[in-house]
Amino acid sequence: MIVTEKKPLQEILKNIGNEKNIFLIGCGECSTTCKTGGEKELNEIKEQLIAAGKNVTGFAIPKAPCIGSQIIMAQAINRKLIESADSVLVMSCGLGVQSVKENLRQKKGVHAGCDTLFISTLDRSGKVLTEMCSACGDCVLDLTGGICPVTRCAKGLLNGPCGGSDKGKCEVDKEKDCVWGLIYNELKEKGKISQMEKIQKPRKYSKQLKPRAKVLA
Ligand code: SF4
Ligand code: SF4
Repeated sequence: MIVTEKKPLQEILKNIGNEKNIFLIGCGECSTTCKTGGEKELNEIKEQLIAAGKNVTGFAIPKAPCIGSQIIMAQAINRKLIESADSVLVMSCGLGVQSVKENLRQKKGVHAGCDTLFISTLDRSGKVLTEMCSACGDCVLDLTGGICPVTRCAKGLLNGPCGGSDKGKCEVDKEKDCVWGLIYNELKEKGKISQMEKIQKPRKYSKQLKPRAKVLA
């Protein structure tokens, strides 16, 4: 899941500037879960924009606005409402905002209503989002008991702990477990502790050269 938080209203209004008529696009997946771009949040921002003297021409909540075909579909359904807008405010992650920009046939100004924070898991309570993967392109999870040191070690260490952990907690943030302690316990439990002795080669940072792209078969 891509984690987002809503931008302050004042920042959104500043970015919209003098544009009067706004069409809203939300996200039925990640931003709905994050409570930043679901139906409730779109209704809230709609009321706030109206109170600020704007006119909201309509809104759409594609399941995943980061998928181009869903933007095309939303546009087909809302063609006239989008046509009558000066710009589109997208309440989703930066992927959704840019997907709207790339795929809207009617060329409109596109505004970001959210800040994009990180990729996360959502725990069983449905409340806690935790960053667990940085999409590094060179995954080591098989060697680290399924626990990512690239993302979850404050220093991103690949070859064991820094030596600063105290009672299992990270020296950088004592609220968090030392991830190398977690990896050690996991490998020990699975009888794979010898994996800790393998020296990891330097990461292939070439796999992080941006912008990255992949063509699906
Ligand atoms: S090593 Fe960590 S950051 Fe890299 S792909 Fe695997 S889980 Fe993601
Ligand atoms: S204490 Fe553990 S998690 Fe924290 S920086 Fe050192 S090795 Fe990484």
